[in-house]
Parts: sequence; structure tokens; C-alpha cells
Amino acid sequence: MMKKLNLSETEIQEIGQQIINCDKCKNLLKSRNKAVPGYGFVDATIFFVGLAPGRLGADSTGIPFTQDSSGKLFQLALSSSGISMEPNDFMQNKLRAYVTNLVKCNPKDDKGNNRYPSKSEIDNCKEYLKYEMSLIHFDVIVPLGRLATEIILNQKCSNFTLMHNKLIKIKDQYCIPFIHPSYVIRGAYPKNKYLEDFKSLRGWVLNRNEKTE
Ligand code: SF4
Repeated sequence: MMKKLNLSETEIQEIGQQIINCDKCKNLLKSRNKAVPGYGFVDATIFFVGLAPGRLGADSTGIPFTQDSSGKLFQLALSSSGISMEPNDFMQNKLRAYVTNLVKCNPKDDKGNNRYPSKSEIDNCKEYLKYEMSLIHFDVIVPLGRLATEIILNQKCSNFTLMHNKLIKIKDQYCIPFIHPSYVIRGAYPKNKYLEDFKSLRGWVLNRNEKTE
């Protein structure tokens, strides 16, 4: 029997289709293999926001944070802390996550390497992120990396590494910025500590939900 979709699921699927067909960023039409919509649970507890699909990962799989070294570390961090972005997962005791990126298409430089998205590319794609944030239920938003944190908080974050894993309340929403997995892959932050930080994120969500029950 086909699963009956609720309104948010239908809307998020429609936005996914718009993203797949989007041609707003002319440079990205040349560099992307495919546009990558967000992935995961509409009724999430944690909403992760990365930077952009990686050229060796999501750009070919079509699913954020998969296949490349950052994606593998992120997946390991999720699975080892009991968090899942996979709707077909066996969910007992797992926290549901939704994962997306600031820009949905892979930006490459002249040499074919990943580059930071430009301001205009981020601005072009902001509308999709806003829709996702309005349709997805979540308890906490976790931007991955400085740029994603600056967009979510709408402020410059010059001492970003000090903000890692620190709770910030914005109006009635909670934000816990995390450093991007690529920073850990480069050896700038210990991998074991990063994995522990995801467990503390899970602990924060469980603790908060216990208090509000
Ligand atoms: S990055 Fe976003 S706005 Fe730009 S083409 Fe891709 S989906 Fe469209």
C-alpha cells in the first residue's frame, strides 16, 4: 500500500522538485552534476544545515553528506550518537534529523575543486532554505560551519570555533552551531571529540524534550 503523505511532506517534495529544476545560478548550472534537495524527516528533532553539496559526494549521490570524506564522517557521527536522517531506518530510540545545505548545487572553481558559494548564489538559494525551515518541524537547528552559522544567525561569526557546540537561543528557536566535518577531516579538530559532541547534542535534545513533556 502506498504511504499517505501529510501536507508538509507533499510540500517539501514539491520544493525538492523545484530545486531539481532550478536554474537561477548560471555558474552552478555548469558546475553541478545535479541539484541536491534536503533529505530526512519532516517531523525532525534536529535540522542540520551544511554549506553545499560536495563534488565527490552529494553532487553524485543526490543526498546531502554522503559518500565523500565529510559525508562519511557526518554519517558516522549520526549513527554513533543515535541520530538518523534515513526515513527507512529502524528508528527505535533514534532521533530524527533533516539535513540540507545553504546552496543546493555544487560550486566548483576553475580547477574543478569545491569552492565557497558566492553571496549571490547563497541569496538565490535562501528562499528554498526558508521554505524548508518553515515546513520542517525541529527542536534545534545545527548549522555546520561558519558560513551556514552566519546565515542562520544573520550575523558575522569571526570567532566561530568558539561557538562550536554552544547553545544559542534566537527568539523561540534554539541553535547549536557545529564546525563542519571537513574541518575535522583536515585535522583541525579531533575526530573522537567531534563524535562525542554529537552525543552531547543528542543528550541536549533528549533532556529538553523530557523537560517539556
Ligand atoms: S544553488 Fe539553489 S538557487 Fe542556485 S541553481 Fe541551485 S537550487 Fe537554484
